Amino acid sequence: MSANEDTATPVVTRFAPSPTGFLHIGGARTALFNLLFARHHGGKFLLRIEDTDRARSTQPAIDAILDGMRWLELDWDGDVTYQFARADRHAEVANAMVESGAAYRCYLTQDELAAMREEAQAAKKPLRIRSPWRDKTNEDATAPYVVRLKAPTEGATTIHDLVQCEVTVQNSEIDDLVLLRSDGTPTYMLAVVVDDHDMGVTHVIRGDDHLNNAFRQLPIYRAMGWPEPKYAHIPLIHGSDGAKLSKRHGALGVDAYRDEMGLLPEAVSNYLLRLGWGHGDDEIISREQAIEWFDIEGVGKSPSRFDQKKLENLNGHYIRQTDDARLASLVAARLPFETSESQQDLLRRSMAALKPRAANLLELTDGAAFLFRTRPLELDADASALLGDEARALLSSLHTALDAVADWDTEALEAAVRAVAEDAGVKLGQVAQPLRAALVGRKTSPGIFDVLALLGRDESLGRIADQMTVSA
Ligand code: GLU
Repeated sequence: MSANEDTATPVVTRFAPSPTGFLHIGGARTALFNLLFARHHGGKFLLRIEDTDRARSTQPAIDAILDGMRWLELDWDGDVTYQFARADRHAEVANAMVESGAAYRCYLTQDELAAMREEAQAAKKPLRIRSPWRDKTNEDATAPYVVRLKAPTEGATTIHDLVQCEVTVQNSEIDDLVLLRSDGTPTYMLAVVVDDHDMGVTHVIRGDDHLNNAFRQLPIYRAMGWPEPKYAHIPLIHGSDGAKLSKRHGALGVDAYRDEMGLLPEAVSNYLLRLGWGHGDDEIISREQAIEWFDIEGVGKSPSRFDQKKLENLNGHYIRQTDDARLASLVAARLPFETSESQQDLLRRSMAALKPRAANLLELTDGAAFLFRTRPLELDADASALLGDEARALLSSLHTALDAVADWDTEALEAAVRAVAEDAGVKLGQVAQPLRAALVGRKTSPGIFDVLALLGRDESLGRIADQMTVSA
């Protein structure tokens, strides 16, 4: 059965990050699952920034979240909802709950609360507040109070979670949580429920660290007589060693995957999709295919392990699939100088030779660097070591032979280089090695004939001449 078959309401999901840090990889996956689920069911995917924690929410964090989502094409529908701006509405709901008797004004003082906390600690029990004010009112209209939920005390609450299946908690375990603080500001727990309801959210898909919260949030829906959402609590991502993902495992902001690791968004997105969701043995899954296939049934119950190597391999695959013009502009953006039109054209023409050798944009950019180096090249140690007297003599012969090539294309270039090797009675590699050292300044590069063709006649002959004259 599809997760949504039993309801006629259009699916609405949301991603609700707290802007207290960057968009990390776990959050991005949660957003992706919400997006795919909504798109699969022809519904809407909304974004809500949970900025009620004024001390910890920052504008740079909001910007990083929006930026990361755009980069990964986690395109939300409509405007972003900012939770803090809705505080009046949250308070209105809390007050309506007081009116209906589903919540109450609690006048416990800080000292009384501290005493309750101490008592619970002494008894080694978690603090679950049932305030004496549950069933009485205070005649003193000026006394400060918080608004607490009148949580059910008997029976049990069962959630039919779409991932975790049936989970039951005794209602005696659920405390009378605070809905409005004494300064009238709403708590996070209240805000989430009111916003999800007002936004028409039908499916709450989020990390399983929020499963306990669901048991505290449901009574608010029930008190208000609101339709309850379906829950899907997805297992958190673990590191390759099985421990919860931390910075040490590469739990960085998605911007690090873009900027520092040079990954393509579709590779990251594809990898995240496979992290906790599967469709047979399929590894390479396009966004369109993902929308067609994605459903909650495919989400596993056990935590998935983050595998950086796999992510990089996948990225290599996407690099090879990506068209040359796009790759060239991504590389150009990483170069330390402004590229001219002809340099951009050169980059584009070089991609076919470079991209089979690169797993990420860093390697691709590094591979392309030789195109723009200025003469005379500074050779690295490996390349220098290749240029002994014999090799320099071969460079001389190469210079003469290549100078005579009429059409500077790979076929003619290959014929000329092979002829030099034959004349000298050496293998092609023995000629190609010093040639590469002279042209690229390193021991490794794309195929040497591609290198010659890309550099062009004048630059190639110039770089060869530079090395045949310098003595070791
Ligand atoms: N703001 C919460 C967080 O960033 C998510 C709340 C929710 O999804 O219900 O962890």
